[in-house]
Amino acid sequence: MEDRGFVMLDAPILSNEKTMKLYEQIGIPYEIWDSNTLKKRMPGINAGKYWPNKPVKSDEFWDEASEELGAIFSKHGGYISDPLLAAQNFAAAAKREGVNFHFRKLVIGIEKNNGRVSGVRVANYDAQSKKPLKEQGEVIAADLVVNVAGPWSTQINQMAGAGSDFTMELKPLRVEVHQISTPKDILPGPIMGDLDLGTYLRSGPGGITLVGGTEPECDELEWVEPDLVDEVNMTRTMELFESQTYRFAKRFPAAQIPSNPLGVVGIYDVSSDWTPIYDKSDVPGFYLAIGTSGNQFKNAPGAGLIMAHLINQVEMGHDHDNHPIIYQCVKNNLEINLATFSRKRASNTTSGTVMG
Ligand SMILES: Cc1cc2nc3c(=O)[nH]c(=O)nc-3n(C[C@H](O)[C@H](O)[C@H](O)COP(=O)(O)OP(=O)(O)OC[C@H]3O[C@@H](n4cnc5c(N)ncnc54)[C@H](O)[C@@H]3O)c2cc1C
Repeated sequence: MEDRGFVMLDAPILSNEKTMKLYEQIGIPYEIWDSNTLKKRMPGINAGKYWPNKPVKSDEFWDEASEELGAIFSKHGGYISDPLLAAQNFAAAAKREGVNFHFRKLVIGIEKNNGRVSGVRVANYDAQSKKPLKEQGEVIAADLVVNVAGPWSTQINQMAGAGSDFTMELKPLRVEVHQISTPKDILPGPIMGDLDLGTYLRSGPGGITLVGGTEPECDELEWVEPDLVDEVNMTRTMELFESQTYRFAKRFPAAQIPSNPLGVVGIYDVSSDWTPIYDKSDVPGFYLAIGTSGNQFKNAPGAGLIMAHLINQVEMGHDHDNHPIIYQCVKNNLEINLATFSRKRASNTTSGTVMG
């Protein structure tokens, strides 16, 4: 991981006090930056305060700011410069531990025996349409099944007959992340969350800058029905490109925006409060690691430890729904009450964005 630090610009929907309390509890060093420090530490930044978010097509978007903002910074933040390689490394490590992968198969059913899951039914599929070939498929027997299907999580829940007791709703959201390379290394330092304008940014190999969105309320979000995930348009759009890169250019006025969109389209698996669901379900033997929105890649090792502990406890008879399991962290003495990630929780207080 590139440990370049993380700076979160002030925004009314964020609480620095809450973040500071958490950082202090865990022992993460941080600095509170006023606008002068922000300008010194992030050369080229426009520290203007623009909240609330405005559509880039509106006249108000171009208004000058009358005040400046500050930020909270931690040097212990960063990004994974090659997530594909990181995922391959995890897979290699899992194989070493005895995990078998079945590639190019579609899960088309969850098998049950006396109400408890007993395996998954998989089939070959047509690569173009992503539809299963007309065949019975084969059953892979399993003592328990964990739903880790990301944006397809609701489809897999339906196959298992799980979901009726959820208080959390899960919805896929189509998003885009754009890439700018002019001028190179405009943001060589920390990753930046800019909810004030509605973006998040980070640099990447070769001096590029990646710009994502933080779901500005003024923009129309592209929610997708759970059964239509495979129909999503995976081609970048000029509208989202402009919306994200113009906001970036406002924050870093030296940026030059290319005329063609470059970047990726992806789909988040979003829960009602933007917190993942790491839980059991009401179907015995069927577990959930879903609702991972746009922010759980780097949490994956921790999520794995939590899920393993939760599954072991529930399989040994622990009534997690009524007496939430407490997870003891490995690197410090802190405890995590796993009710936070329950499918049946009351909403957690979050920013209601990809920042969690
Ligand atoms: C644009 C974008 C940017 C992101 N940026 C970040 C970031 O900066 N930092 C961060 O930490 N996280 C980020 N994330 C979030 C991160 O990608 C997810 O949290 C993470 O990928 C979740 O991993 P997962 O394995 O649970 O699910 P996924 O990675 O979604 O994988 C689910 C898998 O299940 C498979 N599947 C689904 N249904 C079936 C079926 N019926 N049969 C067989 N296979 C099936 C899918 O093909 C897929 O391979 C981002 C996500 C997106 C979309």
